[in-house]
Amino acid sequence: MFVRVDFNVPLRDGKVSETHRIEAALPTLRRVSAQAKKTIVASHLGRPGGKRLTESSLAPVRDILSRLLATPVLLAPDCIGVEVEALVHDPRQPGVILLENLRFHRGEEDNDPDFAQALASLAEVYVNDAFGTAHRAHASTAGMVKFFREKGAGFLFKKEVDYLSRLLSAPERPLVALLGGAKVSDKIGVLRNLIPKVDGLLIGGALAYTFLKAKGISVGKSLVEEDHVPLAAELIAQAERLEVPLLLPVDHVTAQGVQGDQGPVIVEDSIPLDRMGLDIGPKTVIQFTQEVGKAKMVLWNGPLGMFEVERFSHGTRAVALALTRGNAISIIAGGDTVAAAHEAGVEERISHLSTGGGATLEFLEGKKLPGVAALEGPD
Ligand code: AMP
Repeated sequence: MFVRVDFNVPLRDGKVSETHRIEAALPTLRRVSAQAKKTIVASHLGRPGGKRLTESSLAPVRDILSRLLATPVLLAPDCIGVEVEALVHDPRQPGVILLENLRFHRGEEDNDPDFAQALASLAEVYVNDAFGTAHRAHASTAGMVKFFREKGAGFLFKKEVDYLSRLLSAPERPLVALLGGAKVSDKIGVLRNLIPKVDGLLIGGALAYTFLKAKGISVGKSLVEEDHVPLAAELIAQAERLEVPLLLPVDHVTAQGVQGDQGPVIVEDSIPLDRMGLDIGPKTVIQFTQEVGKAKMVLWNGPLGMFEVERFSHGTRAVALALTRGNAISIIAGGDTVAAAHEAGVEERISHLSTGGGATLEFLEGKKLPGVAALEGPD
């Protein structure tokens, strides 16, 4: 069986510095290796851009994988070719074979049909457990899949698709979306797709300032994406038209700059010209936590303030705690937001931590992901 996983892990001094992604793939790999004679594991690592780079080798991952699976894992010298085929078919070789970095070949990202076929020739069953690359039509996520009659999603992939599909198509209601973070441009598609589906939309973080500006409220030196102010006005109008409550912060934790050593000041309504909003204020925290408390399903993406700095982290932490107080189904998406949940110590009590990054956002935008479509495609 061929298993596409996401072992795109951070490396430091040639060692894996964060093993979370390898651990996350273990349930699927354990299940597959218990059933299959050979488990062919494939991943990309970094951006070698079609070249064989020693620093992008999966060798450090092999060591960890072997330890975690408690079984020998062979690192193939490449991901396609006669030598790899011979290893795969050699019964004397270990049952788990980790292919070398898929992106050592241009054919992976180019979704080259010959490369896809060469990968597909290594196994009879295809399993995708790399949801984080499902938004890319690459050879290992899309092109090779049509060569298999038997194909399916691994546990991680399935969990992502199940939670996100349920959120978009059959949510528990009230459904509340809480969006923060820095960039409006990253979230436009998500906002557009979610507004008609949610029962309430709460906007915090730097994102809120482009919306407040669109409402004619002064935001001082806060981060604003000027070119997106008209679009924010359009989204506000869309929400009004659909009678979806769209809540923006009513107060802010402000400072003259991020670095300033003076204590932050709480400001209500308009922010003076020389200050910037760096967290939601206490009244907003109460409003937002009340709304979250009423929800049966909550999606949260993007921190509500500059949470990496302790004095601007309270809003994010308070809302993270509120998410776990009731019995709502909670879905947290995005690396920063998952980190914020971890910081608040609530990670374990969140129903689903979506780590798909770009793939999660595109799914929430309502796009059909190539990796998902490939699994559903005709036999
Ligand atoms: P994103 O990647 O778009 O989810 O943005 C995450 C980043 O937004 C984090 O690094 C936060 O520090 C930052 N952020 C959130 N709120 C603010 C704010 N009010 N001002 C500046 N940065 C913010």
